[in-house]
Amino acid sequence: MKTKPGHIQLYESGKLDKIIERLFCVLESCELCPRKCKVNRIKKELGFCRSGKDLLISSFGPHFGEEPELVGKLGSGTIFLANCNLGCLYCQNYDISHFGEGEKFAADQLAGQMIYLKNIGCHNINFVTPTHFLPQIVESIKLAVRQGLDLPLVYNSSGYENVEMIRIIDGVFDIYMPDIKYSDSANARKYSLAPDYFERAKESLKEMHRQVGDLKAEDGIAVKGLLIRHLVMPNDVAGSKKALEFIAEKISKDSYVNIMDQYRPCYKANNFPEIDHFPTEEEFKSVIEIARNLGLHRGFYSPSPS
Ligand code: SF4
Repeated sequence: MKTKPGHIQLYESGKLDKIIERLFCVLESCELCPRKCKVNRIKKELGFCRSGKDLLISSFGPHFGEEPELVGKLGSGTIFLANCNLGCLYCQNYDISHFGEGEKFAADQLAGQMIYLKNIGCHNINFVTPTHFLPQIVESIKLAVRQGLDLPLVYNSSGYENVEMIRIIDGVFDIYMPDIKYSDSANARKYSLAPDYFERAKESLKEMHRQVGDLKAEDGIAVKGLLIRHLVMPNDVAGSKKALEFIAEKISKDSYVNIMDQYRPCYKANNFPEIDHFPTEEEFKSVIEIARNLGLHRGFYSPSPS
């Protein structure tokens, strides 16, 4: 039997309305993310993420570059939000994340996008960088559910989360897909302007895992659970061993961990010689080896011998 997505249960019980109400209250003194800027976004005050009340969407459509369990045959229904609450100086999508390229969307327009993605066969709705627009997104989800949305919802984030917000949205998203970017606070400060990154990511990942457990698939398609991404960076800027130890020891050895080798220097990376190049194959292989030695076994692959 197919698993019923959590947001439908919340909608049917009326709890989704209460969640939306609580999230919009937060916007009046914003602490949606760990930066806790306390700006009133309803009154158009802007904090670190430069996002106000209006939802900004950069693009949407079926995406085939995600993990196979999300992509299936017909793609992951991806919705890219503009702006970001992290500040990665090497971001590959800096036009969206730093320069906020996107268009204003009302809640019913976003709901219409979700229904469109469902109608063309996408296996899920995948919100990329949702943290700073959480109230508006959940409001749109409610409107989409009314119109028949019944796909798993994916919360695809940098991992830099206020755990209190993750607690509020318990049940809304079926799949959490956080990054774990750094384990070293000096590097998190230097490259992403977030010295508390690892602490906030650790508490958030624990809460996400408490809510949804390890990743589960039905007929090869992800339906619920935690899917973690870890980007290998040159010169071990990511502090991979400590990050993977946390996953293996404090989350679960059965965690699905996509260890990614696609770092490439972008945006302001050329100001930092240590990250102004690709990681070597040896660096990538050594991170895979660490993961295997820790007992992790899902979501990553060994590169073919050269
Ligand atoms: S979501 Fe934006 S305004 Fe709100 S606390 Fe985070 S960075 Fe600040």
